Amino acid sequence: MKHIIILGDGMADWPAESLGNKTLLQYAATPYMDKLARMGRTGRLMTVAPGFHPGSEVANMSVMGYNLPKVYEGRGPLEAASIGVELQPGDMAMRCNIICIEGDNIKNHSAGHITTEEADVLIQYLEEKLGTDRIHFYTGVQYRHLLVIKGGNKQLDCTPPHDVPLKPFRPLMVKAGVPEAQETAELINALILKSQELLAEHPINKKRIAEGKDPANSIWPWSPGYRPQMEPLAEKYPVIRKGAVISAVDLINGIGYYAGLRRITVQGATGLYDTNYENKVAAALEALRTDDFVYLHIEASDEAGHEGDFKLKQFTIENLDKRVVGPVYEAVKDWDEPVAIAVLPDHPTPCELRTHTAEPVPFLIYYPGIEPDNVQNFDEVACVEGSYGVMKEDEFMNEFMTASALHND
Ligand SMILES: [Zn+2]
Repeated sequence: MKHIIILGDGMADWPAESLGNKTLLQYAATPYMDKLARMGRTGRLMTVAPGFHPGSEVANMSVMGYNLPKVYEGRGPLEAASIGVELQPGDMAMRCNIICIEGDNIKNHSAGHITTEEADVLIQYLEEKLGTDRIHFYTGVQYRHLLVIKGGNKQLDCTPPHDVPLKPFRPLMVKAGVPEAQETAELINALILKSQELLAEHPINKKRIAEGKDPANSIWPWSPGYRPQMEPLAEKYPVIRKGAVISAVDLINGIGYYAGLRRITVQGATGLYDTNYENKVAAALEALRTDDFVYLHIEASDEAGHEGDFKLKQFTIENLDKRVVGPVYEAVKDWDEPVAIAVLPDHPTPCELRTHTAEPVPFLIYYPGIEPDNVQNFDEVACVEGSYGVMKEDEFMNEFMTASALHND
């Protein structure tokens, strides 16, 4: 049996008064997800281990069954993998935002949503001026870049810049979490201040200011870590001899890299509501022909949740149902080699809250021959009655990868 996980990022939500106290998954028309819930079995999954923030990287690693306290190394190392930077033992990687400082305050975490093209010039300039045998800057995407420090101590207290708009930056600079990290903290803070001197005079920023745009006038490194000790999925689940990941999001592609999944890049995958669903489904089906496992990640509903836009989020959920879950099910249902399908969000992104929460998410598992439970719909409320109950850690992945194998005769 082959396996596909269809992940609707941030799809879970809270009941809303404007929807008659329904959640969006209850309110939206999702005939295919409901059908698979009806024919399959359901439950809920804790995707955020105690003490972790409900980030997409945390939640998606949990969905794949990784033990967060053991493997979590922050965003830096995942993004390093996504942009092709191979971390050596002792290399500390950090997400390095390029941000806008106004006066002494952080104006925004994205340097006014700078383009990758402009940011690349600035990052290369910083690498030329501040890079050493020990320190390297790498261009990522838009405002999201990478700083690697050889022999850095990751026990640092860093502040994500998107959490502190309009706050004075100096008190928020890097602090050592333990005395041994003092040298690393001082090194990073010196880089922040030097980057401000260098970037203030850069022609790209002079041009941006002249055009009324925010200058990208400081780096802001955070989320440090080393290369994660993640065992490839194939080692834990022999049924996965070959697997693939399809996502428009760097962090997810980075997880896929360490999980030993090959990355499939899809034309027109934007991470937004206008993403090319058809190309993603076609790529997933093609991968299922040759591989045993596909992780198909769709970002759109999370973005709609962050925007607090109920109508848009409903649209993204209905698109996931009609343009992803439906076509995948219809395509594989008659294959000689059966395909097990799981559908779930990574975490809720309630429109009302506009950010992630750590509550358990509903999931469904369907494969030919599965004994269905009594749940008739796929949503946060119906799945409370699901026969899997509330799962945690690698229980969902173990169930999905092994239970179906019993039917594989
Ligand atoms: Zn997410």
